Amino acid sequence: MPKKGCGNAGNVYICVVMAGVYVHIPFCASRCSYCDFFSTLRLADAGTPYVEAVVAEARLRRSELHGEPVKTLYLGGGTPSQLPMPLLARLVEGLLEAVDLSGIEEFTIEANPDDVTPDWCAALPSLGVNRVSMGVQSFEDSILRFVGRRHTARQAVEAVDNLRHAGISNISIDLIFGLPGQTVASWTDSVNQAIALAPQHISAYGLTYEEGTRLWRQRERGEVVEVPEVQCIEMYRILVDELQAAGYEHYEISNFALPGYHSRHNSSYWDDTPYLGLGAAAHSYDGAVRRYNPADLQEYIDKITAGAPACEQEELTQWERYDERVMLGLRTARGVDAARLRQDFGEAAWQHFTNEARPHIAANNLRVTDDNHYILTRDGIMLSDAIIRDLLWEE
Ligand code: SF4
Repeated sequence: MPKKGCGNAGNVYICVVMAGVYVHIPFCASRCSYCDFFSTLRLADAGTPYVEAVVAEARLRRSELHGEPVKTLYLGGGTPSQLPMPLLARLVEGLLEAVDLSGIEEFTIEANPDDVTPDWCAALPSLGVNRVSMGVQSFEDSILRFVGRRHTARQAVEAVDNLRHAGISNISIDLIFGLPGQTVASWTDSVNQAIALAPQHISAYGLTYEEGTRLWRQRERGEVVEVPEVQCIEMYRILVDELQAAGYEHYEISNFALPGYHSRHNSSYWDDTPYLGLGAAAHSYDGAVRRYNPADLQEYIDKITAGAPACEQEELTQWERYDERVMLGLRTARGVDAARLRQDFGEAAWQHFTNEARPHIAANNLRVTDDNHYILTRDGIMLSDAIIRDLLWEE
């Protein structure tokens, strides 16, 4: 949440409360064909030095938290559920010693369904984990196999069962639409199977072909045919309709939650709230400066082990911060807070925003709420990329 006491210092917006801490766990058992996240297959030899480096980085950079307690902790990847339990316990113990986790409200770990065994689940509550985000992606085994996922649809169902039995009552699942071979009918079936599992939260993303991935090369060679855009739009419409009918709130373009189960950690990214990112390839943001850790396991471990932060940093210009605020705000159901935008970025930004918004309001793609928030309408969500592009600042 944006904190009380944020304010302007000159024209640099400073905010000293960290919403949360993100820890990147860059290990996977195998690589999925579409994925361009930073991860390696080197858990066996690098797992222990990596976890020690993350703990050391937490100690090195704890001053960036300005003494504030951490509200949310998110272990993402990669595949955090691949960490052997003693290593996961060591990571949590080290973080507890380094930073104040006494006020923690949400502690999420990402998992792949095939790792979510009864034993694994049973160990989570004692570590303080109260939310699990699981990459299910699809309930079609042929598609899962084709893109290199290691689990089946059945394993995803069993994983949810195992989590519930262990008392984890806040479960999120990820889905992907537009996967090769997916049809509108098979996607509808996947959405309905997800709903039948009744997770508290569902994230769904359209597949993108990222340069350098195996899937990208398969498309280059003509081995894969992209799902046509018009079908992807239809899949997205079905997703929104089915989830809303099942009681999920559509609180961000790609995110849906049962009432009371919005992701607090991710909401803080969309709220433009500061966070600290630890681990290789992790990013941090303090309200004015972005910091980037190297996407290189050995470089990261070596730099931290030598006793210095590994990150590079970039101070965002006022207009880059304006763009982030508009882009992230419009992705959410809360929209862009007009008064805050004007106060933080001044009259020129405000004029630009309102001028560019006008035709989209007239076309019923954007609306202004009674408390002066600018929000995409249902039709506008389908055109969100183009609308957001118009509202960004072009120098
Ligand atoms: S498990 Fe996740 S992070 Fe690892 S390769 Fe697959 S999609 Fe990427």
